[in-house]
Formats: sequence, structure tokens, C-alpha cells
Amino acid sequence: MDTLNKVRSVDVATPNTGEARSPLLQRRSSVRRTMEIVLDTWNFLILREAYFGVRRFDKFQQRLGIPRQTLSSRLSSLVANEILSLGKRPKEPGQQYFLTMRGKDLFPTMLSLMEFGDKWLSGGKEPPLQLIHRNCGCECHPVTVCSECLEPFSAREVAPRDGPGAGYEPVDSRPTSRRSSDATLLERVRPCSVARTLGIIGDRWSFLILREGWYGVRRFEEMRENLGIATNILADRLARLVQADVLRKVPYSSGDRFEYRFTEMGLDLYKPMLVMMAWGDRWLAEGKPPMRLRHKVCGQDFSAIVVCSECKKPIAAKDTDYILRYPFDL
Ligand SMILES: [Zn+2]
Ligand SMILES: [Zn+2]
Repeated sequence: MDTLNKVRSVDVATPNTGEARSPLLQRRSSVRRTMEIVLDTWNFLILREAYFGVRRFDKFQQRLGIPRQTLSSRLSSLVANEILSLGKRPKEPGQQYFLTMRGKDLFPTMLSLMEFGDKWLSGGKEPPLQLIHRNCGCECHPVTVCSECLEPFSAREVAPRDGPGAGYEPVDSRPTSRRSSDATLLERVRPCSVARTLGIIGDRWSFLILREGWYGVRRFEEMRENLGIATNILADRLARLVQADVLRKVPYSSGDRFEYRFTEMGLDLYKPMLVMMAWGDRWLAEGKPPMRLRHKVCGQDFSAIVVCSECKKPIAAKDTDYILRYPFDL
């Protein structure tokens, strides 16, 4: 992860002033902005059902067993964030929730999280959901690739650098210590590789710790300082990430201190992170992505996209059929 280390030093040095960083500043990041939306367990579950074709309030409620008030407030916030829009269809009674362009464009993020979950979190069993890509007619699985050469990439093959939007911004709302992704809630409606992945990274602090990891931050003290996180919460989240096999604890100096490094599985989380970042760059960065990425293998600047394993074309929600590998009562 040497390249990521390099970026960190650039990143810290660039923003406009030589002043010491206040703890109330955080890295400007398209991934974080995306995560704020996808991260919320209920938002995620609502979006997933929307991709399965659910459009009506009552249907969401019935599928998810979500309290009406919670559903109502989540739907409003998804509408406010322009992920869903509320409208009517000719000749169909009542209001319905439709995925906007932004909302549809989050589908690759789901697919990339699914690719990860299928690979690492299916416990050797068949993945719960089989995709069929209607465009090519194949049973397929999603593959996260470089937008330029269309080849899969690994974290080690990516060289990030500052983009035009790089820098720090004030922390608007500090993450709470509450774990926002509840694993049992996430899997209570259907077994789902995305849910399993969010069970690991869906908690705001865990996610921010991982992001520090991508910047090459490996030590407890440095994480604590960068994130302004309470010691006990940091210790708890690190322990969970180690237990989930995302990070491993490695001794340094005389062996009585530890640093945290990514496992192979942890490294692989970089791909869904970059797909989320691409979404944030497209919709929330106002044309100024905080970070640029180069694919070292093909030598080009790229973004992470998700394609069909068979025809290598992007997969849109509307072109996708599913075979559920589990009993589900529609
Ligand atoms: Zn490439
Ligand atoms: Zn295909």
C-alpha cells in the first residue's frame, strides 16, 4: 500500500494553508458523502426493495416490517436527497416512489458490495442471489473493473492523487457512537451479500477507520487524532474489524505495540469503496472530485465501474432479472 501512503503525505500538505489541522476538519471525500446515504440500514433496505421493483408505501412496509413513521421519514429523506421521487403514473391509483437517475446510478454500488459479499461472506455456499443480465441473456455476476481498460483491478494497482476538490471541510455532523448498521436487521428480510458487507463496513466509525487505512494510517494514536474518536470506541471498532478479518494486528517496534493492516479481504473492500466514490464524484462533487485515480496497469486515469462477468457491459437495474436462491414469499 505504498502508493496510498504517498498520497496521504500529499493530502495533508496541499490544502491552502500551512496551519495545523483542527480536529473539526475532515477529509473531503466522495465516498463519505455516498456512505452517509447508503449506510443507514433502513435506507439501504428501502433502496434494495426499490431495485426489486417495489414502489408503494404499503408494499415497502409489508416487505420490510418497518414502522410506518420510520418508513415515512426515510422515504422523505431519500426524496430530499433526490434518490427517489414521489409521483403518479397515468391510470395507476395513488402515489408511488420512483428511483431517480441518481438512485438508479447507485445500483453499481450495490452490485459491487454484492460482489464482495459473494466472494468473502457466503461461507462457501452459493450466493443468495443469482443475477441474469437481460442484455446478454447470461447468468452472471458483477465485476468491478477499470472504466478505461475494463479489466478488474486490485487496490495495489491503483495510484490515487489529489483531485481539484481535494482538501478538508468542516465536520457538519459528528458521527455518533451508535452502530448504525444492525446485522440482524440487515438480514432479517432476505439473505443478502450486500447486507453482509454493510454489516462490516456500514457503521460510520468502522467506515472512517477503513478510510484512514486507505490513506496509509495504521496506528491507533494517529487514527484517534485524525478522527477525533473516543479511545474506547476506536478500540471497539478495531477489535470488530480484526474479528471480521478485515484488518490484522501486527506488532511493531520492540513488539509491544501494534499497528493495523489490511488483510487480503480488507484490501478487496477498496473496490466497492471506489464505486461509491465514483457515484459521489458524479452527483455530489460539483465537477470537482477530491481524488483522482490512475490504474497502474493500463496507465490511465479511471473510475471504478461494475460490469457483467459475461458480456463486460455495465449492468443497469432495469436490465436485470434475479434468481433467488432462497425461499421468499412475494
Ligand atoms: Zn485500466
Ligand atoms: Zn451481460
